[in-house]
Amino acid sequence: MTVKAVLARKGTNVTTVDPTASVAAAVKLLGEQRIGALVVTGPEQHIVGILSERDIVRALSVHGAEALDRPVSEMMTRKVVTCNERDTLHDLMERMTAGKFRHVPVVEQGKLAGIISIGDVVKSRVEEMEHDTQVLQDYIRTA
Ligand code: AMP
Repeated sequence: MTVKAVLARKGTNVTTVDPTASVAAAVKLLGEQRIGALVVTGPEQHIVGILSERDIVRALSVHGAEALDRPVSEMMTRKVVTCNERDTLHDLMERMTAGKFRHVPVVEQGKLAGIISIGDVVKSRVEEMEHDTQVLQDYIRTA
């Protein structure tokens, strides 16, 4: 299955945050949206980083509650691994496993075009496997 097929179902909406926003504001967004990461964008939705709940936990462990007043730009990961709509979920699983992260923003023609989480990958893979099992069972029943 391709990234395009997953986005066709889940939509292309991505919750973003400005690098100058406070970590407290980012925490509020993560909580309200019930998500695990925010794509950090500059002008024209250009990706400048990614901030996940792990970055926030790490910052809190180092700086204590003061971390909440710091800007997102200080805590985010700057080198973001992205994908495009033609990539397969298999490609993404490899990237997530190698990089030990659970979120991959989708970029098309230099613009943010969606995000795939490990949850999306697992859901789609389970559905694919269930479909394959059903096809095999139908085949056996009618053979
Ligand atoms: P996650 O597992 O996605 O919560 O993120 C774990 C760590 O990887 C955090 O430091 C994130 O900032 C970083 N991270 C998350 N997604 C990506 C990505 N697509 N490219 C690079 N780093 C990422």
